[in-house]
Amino acid sequence: MHIVRTVQAMRHEHEQWTGSVGLVPTMGYLHKGHLSLVEHARAENEHVVVSIFINPTQFGQHEDLASYPRDIEHDLQLLSNLGVDVVFIPTVDEIYPSGFTTYVTPEGPLVEQGEGAIRPGHFRGVATVVLKLFLIVQPQRVYFGQKDAQQVVVIRRMIEDLNLPITMQTLPTIREADGLAMSSRNSYLTASERASACVLYRALSAAMAAFDLQRLTDVQAISGAARTVVDSMPNIRLEYIEIRDYSTFLPLQTLRPPALVLIAVRIGKTRLIDNFVLHTDGRWDTGLIGDQVSRANP
Ligand code: AMP
Repeated sequence: MHIVRTVQAMRHEHEQWTGSVGLVPTMGYLHKGHLSLVEHARAENEHVVVSIFINPTQFGQHEDLASYPRDIEHDLQLLSNLGVDVVFIPTVDEIYPSGFTTYVTPEGPLVEQGEGAIRPGHFRGVATVVLKLFLIVQPQRVYFGQKDAQQVVVIRRMIEDLNLPITMQTLPTIREADGLAMSSRNSYLTASERASACVLYRALSAAMAAFDLQRLTDVQAISGAARTVVDSMPNIRLEYIEIRDYSTFLPLQTLRPPALVLIAVRIGKTRLIDNFVLHTDGRWDTGLIGDQVSRANP
């Protein structure tokens, strides 16, 4: 496994390769969610690149850039167990050299609503770094997690809008045994916060049950069912529970597939997001419990 820190060295690696390249972009502090993306990339490509870059432009001024968890040694150990070819770990200066001017700025409801409303500029930072990574690594296939549902829609749109010759694979959210979606940010939770963090999954499950079992389709009624679950937890503040069209990201009045049910909460100082997908065939994608996912020993 090569550890590559510069754009030039990454290009040099690429020049040696003939077969397909799969890229998994991450911010590190890897967990089973990341590793499931890497495993899929490994299975589908001759060459696998994992990038680890905590991208400053996607963090707001008062967000957790400085405290974002890091453990490169452990990350490298996990990745070498999975047969990754290159770990690309650029510095901030390598990605944003002095004088950097050119950003990718998605526009419209897709980036102004949901996470975009709470984190202005977030998707500009995401789209900019992801396009740069695509151009530096030149993958045929890229792997993203359903966990960050709006990011999936934004990147899918960018690939289409800019005619990028790239196939995007979106893989299910990997969860802890109690349903909490794995996230590097879960490490911020205290023991008691961690115990209540499964509320996101329980609230999404309540919304799904309102649709499937109670046959409710009115989004107010469905999100009300989810809200009741969150309101029963005193230490949790609901930021939003939203039901949106999966392709346009526009809000729905009546739940019908393809749709996303999205939730964001604050538990103490930690902000957590999660979602379920209702696919066109009526099937829900609620993710997978990590222990049921086969993988090499993290
Ligand atoms: P991050 O390091 O948080 O930027 O995430 C890197 C990639 O891993 C993104 O495509 C995320 O959507 C994906 N990811 C994060 N958490 C999970 C999870 N629990 N299950 C599946 N994918 C995930």
